[in-house]
Amino acid sequence: MGKVTGFIEIERHDRTYKPASDRIRNFEEFVIPLEERDLERQAARCMDCGIPFCHNGCPVNNQIPDWNDLVYNADWEEASRNLHSTNNFPEFTGRICPAPCEAACTLNIDDNPVTIKTIECAIVDRAWEEGWIVPQPPASKTGKKVAIVGSGPAGMAAAQQLARAGHDVHLYEKHETAGGLLRFGIPDFKMEKHHIDRRVVQMEAEGVTFHCGVHVGVDVQAAELEANHDALLLTGGSEKPRDLDVEGRDLDGIHFAMDFLPQQNRRVAGSNLGDVEDILAGQKHVVVIGGGDTGSDCIGTSIRQGALSVTQLEIMPAPPEKENKGLTWPHWPLKMRTSSSQAEGAERDFSVTTMSFGGENGHVTHLNCQRVDEKFQPVPGTEFELKADLVLLAMGFVHPVAEGMLNELGVDLDERGNVKADTREYRTSREKVFTAGDMRRGQSLVVWAIREGRQAAHAIDKFLMGSTELPR
Ligand SMILES: Cc1cc2nc3c(=O)[nH]c(=O)nc-3n(C[C@H](O)[C@H](O)[C@H](O)COP(=O)(O)OP(=O)(O)OC[C@H]3O[C@@H](n4cnc5c(N)ncnc54)[C@H](O)[C@@H]3O)c2cc1C
Ligand code: SF4
Repeated sequence: MGKVTGFIEIERHDRTYKPASDRIRNFEEFVIPLEERDLERQAARCMDCGIPFCHNGCPVNNQIPDWNDLVYNADWEEASRNLHSTNNFPEFTGRICPAPCEAACTLNIDDNPVTIKTIECAIVDRAWEEGWIVPQPPASKTGKKVAIVGSGPAGMAAAQQLARAGHDVHLYEKHETAGGLLRFGIPDFKMEKHHIDRRVVQMEAEGVTFHCGVHVGVDVQAAELEANHDALLLTGGSEKPRDLDVEGRDLDGIHFAMDFLPQQNRRVAGSNLGDVEDILAGQKHVVVIGGGDTGSDCIGTSIRQGALSVTQLEIMPAPPEKENKGLTWPHWPLKMRTSSSQAEGAERDFSVTTMSFGGENGHVTHLNCQRVDEKFQPVPGTEFELKADLVLLAMGFVHPVAEGMLNELGVDLDERGNVKADTREYRTSREKVFTAGDMRRGQSLVVWAIREGRQAAHAIDKFLMGSTELPR
């Protein structure tokens, strides 16, 4: 523990954002990092509690008090080594993790939590700048071959772990570049894509072969991968979006969020959009249906494209302004949160359902909405109309896409339609086929995908070699 009285003397002080009026002019990241001295002081607030609840709050079990102490004592290189011992990609989580660790911080019971996510991000950003992050190729090869389908955070974490264990790893991705939702879902203003590119370079040097632009189940049969490899890991995410099956749904101008967001990420990357209709929010009244991360990303993207207005509808009631920490700590509390995108100028409305869409000449012009009660039933007499030229459906994802690879393999699915496997062996109903990330657990978070990728790598290494030294 760096400074025994740190938590008494020093107030929480976190990263700030560039003003909204500046940041909405481009798609660049806008978080302003803390100075080194500030970071060391913030790390000194960590109490190194007897039971560090942040360990369990963090899905990859980052050793938070240890690296807080190292940062306080200015040993950044050792802090980076420690951080990478539990998290393959802290620069991803340091940018886009909702930080359940901070909800679980003991200081959060009656004070403000340690700025854990900010310190994590600073450690890894510094490590890249200093050249401390280098490829770690294995000392010897095992002669075993593993195929992984899906290059999101789960697939990437598993691939890195398995390559470092000496296996010959082949990572298949249907899109033109690796990264999964980090690349094509999450906008650049939340995480610029060069962070993924340099990890790909590192992983290639460690022995991972990326096969991008290969749709398994379409361009190559899953059975072929299964037959030609010693193990096959499925990390294809949860890609089936929840739809809104109401009158007028087939009007033009109503799109799934994941038809809209990837286009903008491709524009930023200078890539070809292909043979698809441009979906743009400029000069339009935009309505986003769904109040989560995806909805926020639609808001920030629409505002940057020059939308005339953005309204976000949520069927759930507005949560309380503040949580009752005595009841919720150390768990993730339900409370009103305003994302950076929502703060850029979106109107938010709660307890609202869309009864139908109306339009002219085949194009959407408005939504017919109604308020709902606590059982989500429409309340008579509360009908209202909302103008819209573009409607973005961001109501989450129900399960992985079964058509193609999963149907071909015939792996068992659970009652929610996710690929069935437990969290010890990560093995599907087929002998040498494994699964992890959103494809197994359903729509979740990047940090959970990294955890599952690491744990699946542990299980696969054990399956192939009889024992493993990879951490779980
Ligand atoms: C818009 C949006 C914003 C989000 N924001 C956040 C956030 O801020 N913070 C956070 O923690 N989480 C966020 N999430 C959730 C997070 O991105 C996911 O939980 C995480 O990416 C899941 O990782 P994964 O590796 O399991 O799957 P994915 O990231 O979905 O990757 C799966 C990959 O598999 C590929 N694939 C699928 N099938 C095949 C096939 N048959 N052949 C070849 N390739 C295939 C897909 O193309 C994809 O690249 C967000 C999600 C969305 C949609
Ligand atoms: S990965 Fe997320 S939960 Fe874990 S320490 Fe970082 S911000 Fe916290």
